[in-house]
Amino acid sequence: MADQPISHRSPHVRKTTVTLADGRELVYFGGIPERPADYPDRRRLDRVHVHSQARWDHLLGEWVIIASHRQDRTFSPDTSHCPLCPSTAGRLTEIPAPDYEVVVFENRFPTLGSRDPDRAGDGDDLLAGRPARGRCEVICFSPQHDASFADLSPGRAAIIMAAWVDRSAELAAYPGVEQVYCFENRGQEIGVTLSHPHGQIYAYPYVTPRTDRMLASCDAYRRGTGRNLFDDLLAAEQADARRIVLQGRHWTAFVPFAAHWPYEVHLYPRQRVPGLVALADAAQAEFCELYLDLLRRFDRLFGTPAPYISAWHQAPVRRGGDEFALHLELFTTRRAPGKLKYLAGSESGMGAFANDIAPEAAAERLRQLG
Ligand SMILES: [Zn+2]
Repeated sequence: MADQPISHRSPHVRKTTVTLADGRELVYFGGIPERPADYPDRRRLDRVHVHSQARWDHLLGEWVIIASHRQDRTFSPDTSHCPLCPSTAGRLTEIPAPDYEVVVFENRFPTLGSRDPDRAGDGDDLLAGRPARGRCEVICFSPQHDASFADLSPGRAAIIMAAWVDRSAELAAYPGVEQVYCFENRGQEIGVTLSHPHGQIYAYPYVTPRTDRMLASCDAYRRGTGRNLFDDLLAAEQADARRIVLQGRHWTAFVPFAAHWPYEVHLYPRQRVPGLVALADAAQAEFCELYLDLLRRFDRLFGTPAPYISAWHQAPVRRGGDEFALHLELFTTRRAPGKLKYLAGSESGMGAFANDIAPEAAAERLRQLG
């Protein structure tokens, strides 16, 4: 068990790593519990055999993960069986301690991960898969089952930020990891199976398709103009100003000109950095304030908590660090009370998005909800 300050960057956030009954790692961030070693995992858990496979889609030029072991995972348990609540004397959960601030642990049913040996080529290169190594972690934002990220204090959000920074650095150093992705799916409409406030962290064994496309766009723009595409897009949005939602000293939040979703906000630090690890302390602190403000505006859009996806975009581990701009993309699939935008024929079939809400109108609406 390790118990140490998380890093020189966040000396105030304590980090303690323990091992669960089936060998998975769990990391407590923050001051509770005082002595995690006093709370061993008392469950009898068999190891889950994880054997995800990555298959290359030659036509689209992207990897698809096949994770058939996940069919057995927990689906929408009632509150009394929530695996993300702290353990009590009568009920043992994924988190052995009776209380916590923020916890990260390896997902028991991960999308990524494989102990299968690399298979030698079987002679048909078009139909050859490979073990999808990598790692999937769950991050619990609060011990309170009915809370949401929007309810948290800036202090709790700062511990979550410290955990994101820590995991981004640590997972990037794992063998074979090419990209680290921190995200939150919120709401049953998004397909969330556990309502307890939590997010996920994926460490991919390849660069994801969207990041790959963004880097290709950056490269083309650099060749054509000698400039950075992210910098110029942010400057253009700031100059136009119609789609700006929030402006801080260190961050700008705006609805992008070509928003794909009914309500979509991108949050960029003014000083471009490739990833969370490079974010200055002052920018980390201001992010927490602005992000909580944005989430609360989203919840006020339609009177009931908004289903949303919140996605941290970071540079891959081994390339693009000099061009990529860390940013967060937050969007809801709800376009009106009781109405969701579904990815139907055009979007799912052709990857061609249509958005029924003008980004300028979405930004105006979000500004008014402050
Ligand atoms: Zn819970």
